[in-house]
Amino acid sequence: MSSLFSNRILNTKKSFIREILKVTSNKEIISFAGGLPNPISFPIEALEASIHRIIQTQGTSIFQYATTEGYLPLREYIAKRYTKRFGLDIKPEHLLITSGSQQALDLLGKILINEGDEVLLEKPSYLGAIQSLCMSEPTFLEVNLTPSGPDLKALEEIFTHHAPKLFYTVPNFQNPTGLTYSLETRKALGKLLHDKDTVLIEDDPYGELRFMGEDLPYSGFFGAKRSVLLGSFSKIVTPGMRIGWICTQDEEIMDKLITAKQAADLHTNYFSQVAIHDYLIHNDLDAHIQTIKALYLKQRNTMLDSIKEYFPANVEVTEAEGGMFLWVTLPAYMSALELFDLASKANVAFVPGEPFYANDMQPNTLRINYTNSDPATIREGIKRLATAIYTLETK
Ligand code: PMP
Repeated sequence: MSSLFSNRILNTKKSFIREILKVTSNKEIISFAGGLPNPISFPIEALEASIHRIIQTQGTSIFQYATTEGYLPLREYIAKRYTKRFGLDIKPEHLLITSGSQQALDLLGKILINEGDEVLLEKPSYLGAIQSLCMSEPTFLEVNLTPSGPDLKALEEIFTHHAPKLFYTVPNFQNPTGLTYSLETRKALGKLLHDKDTVLIEDDPYGELRFMGEDLPYSGFFGAKRSVLLGSFSKIVTPGMRIGWICTQDEEIMDKLITAKQAADLHTNYFSQVAIHDYLIHNDLDAHIQTIKALYLKQRNTMLDSIKEYFPANVEVTEAEGGMFLWVTLPAYMSALELFDLASKANVAFVPGEPFYANDMQPNTLRINYTNSDPATIREGIKRLATAIYTLETK
């Protein structure tokens, strides 16, 4: 008997994090599980002024249907910001406004992947991308992530035997590991893809949240034949407005994306687009980002210092130079899922590594977030987690 439901949905797992978030709504629990920006960073008053102003000045038009590509002044703003940051000739026609960068992943999957096509991911990878791309029923290939980016030897090996439709990457402060590609890796990746049809997707919601070190150019700037960059206001203004974008100078890809966007939802929430644009032109986004970075750097340092103080020495942790996450590797004989049960009893939560692996998972890994708890809560949570690790070790 055939199922009511499509293979697409039957083969796609529920988001582990969204399930955990239900458990962590209990106020007693200290949660390092979500990837939530700190709400104290949301520019509420300025947004209130913008919303009031656009209703006063633009009236009914902001509640009307609008163009698929997105609000032109907003695309102009984003294009200028890229040009200022990297000296590139980015124009509004290279930009499509999406409902968060999550929708960009859905649209890219739809335009590029047929059932069984190969898709290359970092190992581990952003679970929202695994889930979204899964809906197009690909075959996933994975390349190990090292502290300087994907393992280049393994990558060359993959490309001698395979021709993946796309390579999905998060080059800055990756979700889940917090790792960042080095300049050398970016150059090598761009060069490797210079004659390949594999679409290089660089998903960069965290790039502007760099606490230390230098802002680095994208791999796509170093000769990749087909490259697509994803951006978002979720981590630098607010996530609930759902404004992200796709930037590509590849006209064929942009043309297909616009068709897929029309079919998906006609256009991104126009009210949100106009409101965020008004906010951007009446406020200093760079100054706002500096405030967020100062807040998160303090929280990150507290988490790393507490880990050094309380965790056993055989537990490894990444020292992210920006973004929102640290990645913990327990000794190989430990299971993060078992730790999750012990930690839940001690009222502290994290995300076990499992959902970040498309194929073979590494059971001794976990992700912890530092952006959504104050320093005192971070210290207490890490202390509880350390106790759970010691308990697991002696079990
Ligand atoms: N990509 C990555 C790597 C992310 O971490 C997230 C959010 N957790 C997204 C995309 C989705 O962000 P948005 O709110 O822009 O849809």
